[in-house]
Amino acid sequence: MPPTGLPPYDESNIFARILRGEIPSRRVHEDEFAIAFHDINPQAPVHVLVIPRGAYVSLADFSTSASEAEIAGFWRAVGRVAKELGLEAQGYRALTNMGEHGGQEVPHFHVHLFGGRPLGRMVPASGA
Ligand code: AMP
Repeated sequence: MPPTGLPPYDESNIFARILRGEIPSRRVHEDEFAIAFHDINPQAPVHVLVIPRGAYVSLADFSTSASEAEIAGFWRAVGRVAKELGLEAQGYRALTNMGEHGGQEVPHFHVHLFGGRPLGRMVPASGA
């Protein structure tokens, strides 16, 4: 269960369905702790999502409730996927959206990996 104040995990969310193999994804990596697949609506030449196998709503949930092994395994997978995609030499961006203000659409914790071109400012300049 997520910590108090966070929504319960929704087993029907799209990434839960991808994990269960109910809908297709273009997977680039899978291991004990994480899977990675291409984003369906890429925002950069390389745009891959890395998600834990465990049922966590967001970073807030994952960082509170996941085991040390899951946390270590997940973040090692994020770094490994970026390397395997050939992004290390020129650099990349890893980003997670959390909750309403973060713009999170899918309620299963995920990290976006963007690369393949200079990515510009960290946050669009639409006002502080
Ligand atoms: P977020 O706004 O951080 O929750 O990002 C959710 C991301 O999931 C978006 O970039 C979507 O394009 C992506 N997405 C949604 N459905 C799928 C899908 N079936 N396969 C791959 N990526 C998806």
